[in-house]
Amino acid sequence: ESLDCDVVIVGAGGAGLTAAAQAAENGAKVIVVEKMPIVGGNSLKATGGMNAADTKYQEALGITDSGVDEFIEDTMNGGHQINDRSLVTVMAEESSDAVDWLDAIGAPLPKVAATGGTTHKYLHEPEDGSAVGSYLVEKLNAQAEKLGVQIMLNTEATEILTENGAAVGIKAESKEHNYTIHAKSVILATGGFGANFDLMASFNPALANAVTTNHAGATGDGILMAEAIGADTVDMDQIQLHPTVYQETGLLVSESVRSMGGILVNAEGKRFCNDLATRDAVSNAELEQPGAYAYIIFDQRIVDDLKSCQKYIKNGLTVSADNYEDLAKAMGLEGDAIQNFVDTMDTWNAAVAAGEDKEFGRNNGIDADLSTAPYYAIKIAPGIHHTMGGLKINTDAEVLDTQGNAIPGLYAAGETTGGVHGGNRIGGNAVCDFVVFGRIAGNNASAYAAN
Ligand code: ADP
Repeated sequence: ESLDCDVVIVGAGGAGLTAAAQAAENGAKVIVVEKMPIVGGNSLKATGGMNAADTKYQEALGITDSGVDEFIEDTMNGGHQINDRSLVTVMAEESSDAVDWLDAIGAPLPKVAATGGTTHKYLHEPEDGSAVGSYLVEKLNAQAEKLGVQIMLNTEATEILTENGAAVGIKAESKEHNYTIHAKSVILATGGFGANFDLMASFNPALANAVTTNHAGATGDGILMAEAIGADTVDMDQIQLHPTVYQETGLLVSESVRSMGGILVNAEGKRFCNDLATRDAVSNAELEQPGAYAYIIFDQRIVDDLKSCQKYIKNGLTVSADNYEDLAKAMGLEGDAIQNFVDTMDTWNAAVAAGEDKEFGRNNGIDADLSTAPYYAIKIAPGIHHTMGGLKINTDAEVLDTQGNAIPGLYAAGETTGGVHGGNRIGGNAVCDFVVFGRIAGNNASAYAAN
């Protein structure tokens, strides 16, 4: 079967849906192919928020020290300075406009908090405590559909079509059909490869048996399809471990639990690091603890404010108790570890009261203590979370070939690209990345198609 459109987009996660809504807003006829039976990809699982700087919401809350420059430096430092600074700069500069655009399509993010690895408050969240990913995916999908975007589920892109070196469409297949989709431009928004163990192991053999938080469709298809027509990649060996993953199911326990005041303790009942340092630092610290695991501790105050926590309880991830000693026992701590845990909690609550974490220097998520019973714990350890590397793009979201030239008609956005996050992604930057670069790809691909 043969189809025609202006812009064809591969992948209906955060980046693909954003690009689709943006391109359709510009008047382009857009087709999106999505290989899974649902839209959303890994974006659907994002629980934190969207980092953004110099926004009207920060201003309304009197947050004046968390601007574009701080956002750029935090992102570069978090990524160990191997990020592509030009991409980071564009992401930070466009983030406030992206928040306004989300507002305009009915997806406001008015709450502002801090996230792991940042020194400032950039993390924008939905008003009602919803997880940001499912919230945005639903609104972006509704907007794309309202603007007439055709979304083909259960349809997998297999190849990029080219003519004289330019991308001019894709081949795709569903159970029943083989499609040739002719387009004036192509956007790859296929996400990362955190569920492709062979590909990850080819860069880091130690990851072959790790647990992953990724959805099954995160297999790096866009990267492989683009490489087949000469695209370049960057930082493919930079694979992020997230420190709070429930190992039985690969479910990620949201960073928001810690930014709202949750802490990590080890099997001896003791804290062991700044719980809100960057994800790689916390993961590495955890791997050095007895048994290479830890517990995340929170209280009823956090549960009341965070829908994700209510889900963890409902799904049986937690143990709970009405006092610290009983919680320690419910966690399976024994001997000295029980009293250690009680002491740890008292010390932490005192640190919150004093506004200073003398032990580990944690400087955010220290606004409220853990004194509202009942108390909860989830046993966690590091798991594969984000593939920072991917297709090499420029600030116009054009995909570059191995000579450094843009491949005409080919754009990419989101986790399928590399360079924005460098060696370690900061929480809240995946969403910022997919909204900002999804819009850039949508704008440029539709403009290219109109020429
Ligand atoms: P991002 O945050 O970058 O948007 P996501 O993981 O949220 O990344 O979304 C990527 C989407 O792309 C997923 O829904 C995934 O199923 C889809 N996808 C991946 N490979 C293909 C492919 N070959 N054909 C169609 N869709 C794909």
